[in-house]
Amino acid sequence: MAKVELKKLVKIYDGGVRAVDEANITINDKEFVVFVGPSGCGKSTTLRMVAGLEDITEGELYIDGKLVNDVPPKDRDIAMVFQNYALYPHMTVYENMAFGLKIRKVPKAEIETRVKEAARILDIEKLLERRPKQLSGGQRQRVAVGRAIVRNPKVFLFDEPLSNLDAKLRVQMRAELIDLHYRLDATMIYVTHDQVEAMTMGDKIVVMRDGKVQQIGSPLYLYNHPINKFVAGFMGSPPMNFLNVKIVEENGQVLVDEGTFKLKPAPAHAALLKAYVGKEVSFGIRPEDLPVTADGVDTSGGVVTAKVTVVEPLGAEINIYATTKGQTLTSRVPPHHTYKIGDSIAFAPLMEKARYFDKENELAILPVKFDEQA
Ligand code: ADP
Repeated sequence: MAKVELKKLVKIYDGGVRAVDEANITINDKEFVVFVGPSGCGKSTTLRMVAGLEDITEGELYIDGKLVNDVPPKDRDIAMVFQNYALYPHMTVYENMAFGLKIRKVPKAEIETRVKEAARILDIEKLLERRPKQLSGGQRQRVAVGRAIVRNPKVFLFDEPLSNLDAKLRVQMRAELIDLHYRLDATMIYVTHDQVEAMTMGDKIVVMRDGKVQQIGSPLYLYNHPINKFVAGFMGSPPMNFLNVKIVEENGQVLVDEGTFKLKPAPAHAALLKAYVGKEVSFGIRPEDLPVTADGVDTSGGVVTAKVTVVEPLGAEINIYATTKGQTLTSRVPPHHTYKIGDSIAFAPLMEKARYFDKENELAILPVKFDEQA
């Protein structure tokens, strides 16, 4: 059992920086939770408070129901893997992995069993006598993870552990860590600025911005039900399109008026948008929900015509960037299309997939939960 609870956790650094502002997060036993957000949003600070590497300014931190605010890191039964691996250069792989157990006075035979088992799990048995400088980046990362595994901790903490690897290796290590979580069945907290890592690895994602938790939920919940414009724009690549529009009513029908074109919202959305008639809102639509009319899709919600400005063929699909009266749209279309820069293009937004955000506070106009599980 290893449940971690952050209750109104605050970190104010010397000099007054409010790095974390009343974070309320529950990490359930065996869950893989990812803290994600742009650089400087407070995710590392939050993780380091869980680890005990930063003092907690206000609030409470519980591990398995026990208040641990004042418990030193070594007594919290957690193990952390850092971005820079933090391996001891003069020690072999075996010694690096054994070191934490040695200083905890674990018997030698037990250390050997645990190191060998971890090396087997990570497929680094042949590297045990090497020193860190004789290893590739990916192998070093595995040793750093191995050092955490031998401790058999209640909770694993990862601070951007894949950032120093090249793109291909990152994808491979990502899969390995997902597999490791499955096999160890352990509680893991993982920090990254990369929304793709968050989407692919997390059972649950915590999106942060400027020290504040924005939303908590499963990857698909956050993707489909973002609580505000920030979460909507942060999750997904290419990001969601946003258009400034006005909500109008014509002959009893609520419409989305962009100026050059009008769209008909899905019936359930129209009911909620009624309160915004006469006001400007932000209309959000994901690139995959903006098909071209040439593909024979339903056009009953309306059509947007634009001019192609960039074509990005990715093999399996094409990203098309197009402008309509100064506003840019991105559409993800099947690979058979042959659009070129300067072409006219017509889109038919999937209106039931559209999201709407209040212009003032940027909150979703459609009903969304702050914490999916709460
Ligand atoms: P992230 O991990 O999301 O990139 P951090 O948790 O590292 O963000 O930092 C959050 C905020 O706290 C940033 O504004 C950062 O500049 C500030 N900060 C981080 N460490 C310190 C420190 N030791 N002293 C003062 N401010 C800090």
